[in-house]
Amino acid sequence: MIRFSEPYVTGRELEFVEDVLTSGRTSGNGKYTQLCHEFFKQKYGYDKCLLTSSCTDALEMAAILCQIKPGDEVIIPSYTFVSSANPFIMRGAKLVFCDSMEDNPNLSIEDLERRITDKTKAVVWVHYAGSLMNIRSIQKLCKEKSIFLIEDAAQALDTKNPDGYAGKFGDIACFSFHATKNISCGEGGLLVVNNEELKNRAEIIWEKGTNRAAFYRGEIDKYGWVDVGSSYLPSEITASVLYAQLLSLDEIMSKRMAVWNTYYDKLSDLQSELLSDQHIDFGKFHNGHIYYLLAKDITTRDSIIKHLASREINAVFHYQCLHMSRFYLNKNRAERLKNAEKYHNCLLRLPLHSNMTIDDANFVIEQLMDFCS
Ligand SMILES: *Cc1c(COP(=O)(O)O)cnc(C)c1O
Repeated sequence: MIRFSEPYVTGRELEFVEDVLTSGRTSGNGKYTQLCHEFFKQKYGYDKCLLTSSCTDALEMAAILCQIKPGDEVIIPSYTFVSSANPFIMRGAKLVFCDSMEDNPNLSIEDLERRITDKTKAVVWVHYAGSLMNIRSIQKLCKEKSIFLIEDAAQALDTKNPDGYAGKFGDIACFSFHATKNISCGEGGLLVVNNEELKNRAEIIWEKGTNRAAFYRGEIDKYGWVDVGSSYLPSEITASVLYAQLLSLDEIMSKRMAVWNTYYDKLSDLQSELLSDQHIDFGKFHNGHIYYLLAKDITTRDSIIKHLASREINAVFHYQCLHMSRFYLNKNRAERLKNAEKYHNCLLRLPLHSNMTIDDANFVIEQLMDFCS
């Protein structure tokens, strides 16, 4: 059975977990949390970063940091995970759904631009499939209009373009280390704050609205309640697993990328009656997070999934458009978002993880080609 996704184990996780358990210090913001923060600062140049229990948590912190309040509008993709939306709607924002591009599931800048009003407070920019597309244009647009740019970089760890790594472009960026992501610790996330004015408050929100982090550094002699916040920091047990993964980051990424490249070399030009004749632009800069195809329609997609399942290959569809969700439609009218709906119906993801071999990838390709011809 070739599973769609599998976490990679480097071999050092148990050693580090044991170290935490025998140290007597298992709660958050200890040695391994600091080691992870240091790693991110060194490797990616993030100045202020904080581990969180999930990317969802990091996005909740982002909504608090941007002081989202009822009446504010937040522009987000419809073709994304619910966690790009929930933190903002929980603070009373009006969600403004934006369409994807014709040839890639990432947001269309033109569609986004016409949705900006004087109530627009933030844009949540998702790097779909870890692809860093159009980031300079959206950064420029948000600066001009004084709108917060939040990178939902859940899928984009380690993606780099000539201007820098994902996570360096927004006022805030949020990453995920969920079991399905390239680097994982079960459940985990990271908040990166680039906007100077938001940096100090981030650490307070992280520690339940207290200035405990400053107390730990010896900057103040007692700590207390100074702002709103929650318990967003992960335990040292989680942080130690993540640290083991980070030490093997290059190995984990290159194994994944080898599978992605095998798919791309053999499938990107595949012509078939079962597939859409739409060209897909994967973009030049990505981290191999997802390899996808576009089927001709939803029935065909489901039959490809069924066929692959019969060959012990677990291929899957992806997001259900948020603007068509029951939750949203209970209170709002749906507008058509042509491209997002196309991906909702036709996008198919192939198995992809760092435990897969090139032989596995070739087997998937053969079975797919078999069915398509
Ligand atoms: C995985 C994912 C999330 C949620 O990450 P968690 O760590 O599970 O909270 C949010 N947004 C996108 C785009 C994702 O892919």
